[in-house]
Amino acid sequence: MHELSICGSIADIAAGYAAGRPVKAINVRVGQLRQVVPDTLVYCWNLIAEQTPLAGSRIVVETVPARIECRACAHVTEIGPVLMLACGACGGSDAEVVSGEEFLITSLELAVNLLPAQDFEAAKSERANA
Ligand SMILES: [Zn+2]
Repeated sequence: MHELSICGSIADIAAGYAAGRPVKAINVRVGQLRQVVPDTLVYCWNLIAEQTPLAGSRIVVETVPARIECRACAHVTEIGPVLMLACGACGGSDAEVVSGEEFLITSLELAVNLLPAQDFEAAKSERANA
């Protein structure tokens, strides 16, 4: 299942960005041509994240439709679910893929309302001393 290795890479990158801060959600943008099933990605994320500091975070998948631009008439065609690589205007097949190959992490939602762990420890011992 190639979603598992994708999630592994996302976890590495996201953990680097987060630098130890708790993460609530990871927003990713995945092109249609990547052949990634969003539900499978979410499922695999839960498996992968469990073993990392990102445990408990959600992955939010935005799918980008695949589009081709015709070299003959410059018309841009959304390919649709059947992946027909022909121009919607002139029917030509000499076309360039202009979107659908994306795969990137667009943002991380940090759980900013959580008290950092060391402050929490300090607050506890202050109360104990009072
Ligand atoms: Zn065309």
